[in-house]
Amino acid sequence: MSLSGKGVADRGGATRRNPAFRGVGIPTLAEPIAVVKSERERLDMSTKRPVSSTDDSTPFPHPTKGSGMVFVPHTRVTFGGTFGAVSTAVEQWSFRFNLNGVATPDTPGALANVLKDAWQTHLAARCRSRVRLTQVKVANINAEGKYAGATPPGIWTGDIAATGADNTLVPNQVALAISLTTGLRGPSSRGRFYLPLPVYSADTDGRLDAASVNTMRTAAVAFLDAVNLAASNATPLSSRKVGILSRNGTNPQVTGVRVGKVPDTMRSRRRSMLEEHSAHSRARLMVTAAELQARWGVTPHAALHGACLLAAHPDLRITSGRRTPERNRAVGGVQGSFHLRGRALDFAGSRGTLAAALRTARCQRVSCGCTGPEEAIDEGDHLHVAW
Ligand SMILES: [Zn+2]
Ligand SMILES: [Zn+2]
Repeated sequence: MSLSGKGVADRGGATRRNPAFRGVGIPTLAEPIAVVKSERERLDMSTKRPVSSTDDSTPFPHPTKGSGMVFVPHTRVTFGGTFGAVSTAVEQWSFRFNLNGVATPDTPGALANVLKDAWQTHLAARCRSRVRLTQVKVANINAEGKYAGATPPGIWTGDIAATGADNTLVPNQVALAISLTTGLRGPSSRGRFYLPLPVYSADTDGRLDAASVNTMRTAAVAFLDAVNLAASNATPLSSRKVGILSRNGTNPQVTGVRVGKVPDTMRSRRRSMLEEHSAHSRARLMVTAAELQARWGVTPHAALHGACLLAAHPDLRITSGRRTPERNRAVGGVQGSFHLRGRALDFAGSRGTLAAALRTARCQRVSCGCTGPEEAIDEGDHLHVAW
């Protein structure tokens, strides 16, 4: 399988700012880190449109498609996996970022392998155990936005379960945005990725508590440091770091990580969730005796019987209640019919339903003084019951 990454999307850096936590997200990094924004995001920003959610069906847009810009050669890293066991998972997650520097590392496969280790060491405990990492892909991208040279993407595949405590009441969409900043200003110099199903404690206002935010930030910094170290080792001649691919063609290194208190939504789901509806297919919803009284003009006692009969046989349909003498004559009702006194109801339905309803009606008692129906007659095309 191939993961088309779309996890890196920032605008959000600006929207998650909380005065109480300003500064919390600025880590001390042993080395600067950097992340490259996704191609889609840059297109979005170039047209000033809001970043859309998950409809990125283009695996890798050509740079000329949007702004005509030229790519800085870079290496794209995509992490992806499932929610729940791989064999039965109905939804996947992914996020990605980019490494700056040369676009032709010697061994992208080896790099993918150590990036997997970075996840396992630093982030696995921060995600709920439903989260499984199944793939890490490392692809070198040239200045035309295509896979560079003859070096195929390096791919690690496997199945590593996260180790955080899970609460299955938390839906799969819940994610935590890890915002990445550089020394430069402006939205094109920031990025973010979404950590799937984060483990956290919530304050009474529903947001992450301070300890959770700090833990997450620390883990994210350690993870990105490990990525930088791995990237550097994979290509001794070049020091490649997580970077932000900026619109102006630069590729500044990420130097800050910011984690906010508000949980976010995973925007990189590759498949929509499997929907299963609980559907109501009865002919109608419950009918009350009072409604039957009002609609069909029958007595309270007959209405109570009618409502009970409808509840027991939902496919029944009432076709007649109280009748005027004229109406009774018009429909061929017998003289002195219980319909004239509002004590009879006629029901339509399938033959099977009518037969079953007749049996029910005969033995139905709705109060201690109730002696059952005065009449209960299967008329062939309808059931006539009088009380
Ligand atoms: Zn009765
Ligand atoms: Zn009748």
